[in-house]
Amino acid sequence: MPLLTTIAVGGLQTNCYILKSVDSNDCAVIDPGAEPARIVDAVRSAGLDLRYVLCTHGHADHTGGVAVLQQEMGGSYYLAAADTDYSKNPPGWLLDALGGYTDPPEPDLSFGNSPAIQLGSTEITFIQTPGHTPGSTCFLFESMVFTGDTLFKGSIGRYDFPGGDGRQEIESIRDKLLILPDETPVFPGHGPSSTIGEERATNPYLASLE
Ligand SMILES: [Zn+2]
Repeated sequence: MPLLTTIAVGGLQTNCYILKSVDSNDCAVIDPGAEPARIVDAVRSAGLDLRYVLCTHGHADHTGGVAVLQQEMGGSYYLAAADTDYSKNPPGWLLDALGGYTDPPEPDLSFGNSPAIQLGSTEITFIQTPGHTPGSTCFLFESMVFTGDTLFKGSIGRYDFPGGDGRQEIESIRDKLLILPDETPVFPGHGPSSTIGEERATNPYLASLE
């Protein structure tokens, strides 16, 4: 199995990413938002051991498959404490769009505040990027950045949901993401991938920065 596998899940086509360690069968899953059975199948058929379930933020289309995935395969579950309120009782329209949603379990507290975790000998670094939600977190793995709903190809995440803050979101992108090298691949929570350099040069929401 390659280092990175992408599965688009649910009615909102959330990008669920499976990250494989470079030197072991350990893996981490980012944003299992729906269709957990498909994710379980992918992990199992590749012979991987699920170590971590990492959510970029608490919206239901990113957390809806966590409970079943963890029941089936274990693994420590990360969601920023600031987002736990957003991860339960999603609005009806979202439930209808997702299908098969299950309330996520309580996040594992062992991650603490400023985690970097090991996947085999590979590190996954957590980058706090509040704005889309207060607890939005990006993950850096093997020079790839997973940006959830903070930064998309050609766009940024909505900030008009409860807890959203547009000014904070732009500051997070400017101060935490655009400092990464231009060639850094960007893997967002929805839609196609990009690079930091491409977003810096062409993303209309970032045009006024710098
Ligand atoms: Zn979201």
